[in-house]
Amino acid sequence: MYENRIRDRLVEHGEVLFKAPHKFAHFTKHDAADCLLNDLAHHPHAFVLASIMDQQIKAERAWLIPFLLKEKLGSFTMDTLLNQSEPDVRRLMTEPECLHRFVDRMAGFFFRAVQRIAHQYNSDASLIWNDRPSSATVVYRFLEFDGVGPKIASMAANILARDFKVEFSDYFSIDISADVHVRRVFGRLGLTSPDASVDQLIFRARGLHPEFPGLMDFPAWEIGRNWCRPKNPECGKCYMNDLCRLPTNGTANQLVQRTGASRSAQSEIPTSSAAGSRR
Ligand code: SF4
Repeated sequence: MYENRIRDRLVEHGEVLFKAPHKFAHFTKHDAADCLLNDLAHHPHAFVLASIMDQQIKAERAWLIPFLLKEKLGSFTMDTLLNQSEPDVRRLMTEPECLHRFVDRMAGFFFRAVQRIAHQYNSDASLIWNDRPSSATVVYRFLEFDGVGPKIASMAANILARDFKVEFSDYFSIDISADVHVRRVFGRLGLTSPDASVDQLIFRARGLHPEFPGLMDFPAWEIGRNWCRPKNPECGKCYMNDLCRLPTNGTANQLVQRTGASRSAQSEIPTSSAAGSRR
């Protein structure tokens, strides 16, 4: 079936990334900020806190927040963070500039995440993932943080597995992160209807590749980001061109309208993609 060929190609590209040796991961286009996020050995909480901030703003901006706070505080150790009260965190995130669109809510999430890492994980956030847990356990541990829903939890687990090569005992529970790019590409490829809900997309990915649904996440996101733009997709450059329904479909313009413009209005569904992170 043609959808299996599409799945196989997405999985093939996902596996190349998944099996590639560990490389420095780019999240923000800012070297020092990315160094902090890559430092899982000494600052694993930076990765967790950045993941939590990745909601309803551009991913690059969200993942920059730990570094910007480090600049203000002079350090990003857990001891330093634990010395900040919730009003301190709010002030750090609002003065002189607002670091997040929903800064009040995010300051609370940030503060409570620091408390949780301190009390639940003895100030070592790597305990969330370093005991070769099942993927469901990792996702569940992220879900226990205030403000984290399935999309962020799955995204964080996916980045740990794919980019940081953290070993889990299985990958069944790492879902696709249904951001605007992934939704648009799945719709245009004909894997879902153009108007599929987040839940439909997630279960579609589970059905297509149950052993690791999230493996298709980065390839779909990358296609959406590079070629499959809301308007004027560059199908000639896209490696799905020979399988995709859109370039040969007589109602292409209609499909672009349905899967592009209408999608952009939904781009701010609960969480955005981590730029860097898929990244
Ligand atoms: S071939 Fe075109 S419409 Fe299909 S996924 Fe690629 S860019 Fe999008």
